[in-house]
Amino acid sequence: MKTIEDLDVAGKRVFVRADLNVPLDGETITDDGRIRAVAPTIAKLLERGAKVVVASHLGRPKGEPDPKFSLAPVATRLGEILGTSVTFAADTVGESAGAAVAALADGEVVLLENLRFNAGETSKDDAERKAFAEQLAALADLYVGDGFGAVHRKHASVYDLPKLLPHAAGDLIATEVGVLKKLTEDVKRPYVVVLGGAKVSDKLGVIDNLLKKADRILIGGGMAYTFLKAKGHEVGISLLQEDQIPVCLEYLAQAEQRGVEFVLPVDVLVSAEFPDLKGKTPANPDLVGSDAIPADKEGLDIGPKTRELYAAKLADAGTVFWNGPMGVFEHPDYANGTKAVAQALIDSSAFTVVGGGDSAAAVRILGFDENAFGHISTGGGASLEYLEGKTLPGLAALED
Ligand code: ADP
Ligand code: MG
Repeated sequence: MKTIEDLDVAGKRVFVRADLNVPLDGETITDDGRIRAVAPTIAKLLERGAKVVVASHLGRPKGEPDPKFSLAPVATRLGEILGTSVTFAADTVGESAGAAVAALADGEVVLLENLRFNAGETSKDDAERKAFAEQLAALADLYVGDGFGAVHRKHASVYDLPKLLPHAAGDLIATEVGVLKKLTEDVKRPYVVVLGGAKVSDKLGVIDNLLKKADRILIGGGMAYTFLKAKGHEVGISLLQEDQIPVCLEYLAQAEQRGVEFVLPVDVLVSAEFPDLKGKTPANPDLVGSDAIPADKEGLDIGPKTRELYAAKLADAGTVFWNGPMGVFEHPDYANGTKAVAQALIDSSAFTVVGGGDSAAAVRILGFDENAFGHISTGGGASLEYLEGKTLPGLAALED
């Protein structure tokens, strides 16, 4: 894979595919980690006299403009971080983008509007994607792939566009891939994996591969309930992926066979209602054993015994990979499980990697120092699919 040092960028229009998909509360960016992560690549290109065209997706608009998902707030924040003004184009390949790019002087930067305002970006139809990639290619001379959080997507700007322009990987992608390589090659043991979050079926796949690599797997968050159900427990109205129960049983059996410690919550906080994440009114949850969840309640965080158990299972780790919050951390009454795991990672002397958009944001929003972790990945799905051993379209496209 070429790096940006291999490209002669002075005076050239350089298209940087970034992942600026930040969490927004209205127009307020609640965590700017992904912007800060790609800023050094952009700064380096600007310093070398490139005309930089930055593009990203944000959220999941339906292939047409939707002001809710505008990147305008990101342009402002990116400018603050770079210490230079960032022009914002009101469209992606339209008149505004064309004019803004044409007006760029060497060392100047423009951010295009959300790539996913165009149906071609995410289209499953190769021809439609390619047509959109060709429109994007007209805006640039060179391509730099640095949107690590999107490299598992076969999207026009990630997969098709690099084929049309001389290309290289940005510094963020180089760093991310370096860390993940470390997790798949020579890990210091015990290797402990903590999995949680809400995208259960997305994440079950990685367990298959991790069972061959990890010494311990700790499960929390919404993931836990399908496993608890598979073990015959009542899970009430908790997040449940009924069709994945056979897969969970298979994993539990495999773990046993391979001598991998597979640890599920022993106690959980439950409530009849999902918490109020806006007003954050007190949730007053009940604490129950994980084998005693009432039929009319849902599990929303791991309990204190589980927090202690997981901290103990992390204390002697050599390597830790953590993806997915332990509970609905956005509400203070359900944040303690996630806090306990974050603290345990900080307290251990292990090489610690946190992956996942919400997990990374949780660590920062809950007030932890991101430098206390070995690496905070900007990609959730991307890092999981890498660890699953899959070929990632956005990395493959940068290879040749
Ligand atoms: P990541 O982005 O780190 O990969 P996910 O997107 O899979 O993580 O999941 C993050 C979300 O999971 C958070 O918004 C959190 O509120 C939610 N969550 C965690 N535990 C539970 C639970 N027990 N029930 C429902 N949602 C949960
Ligand atoms: Mg997420």
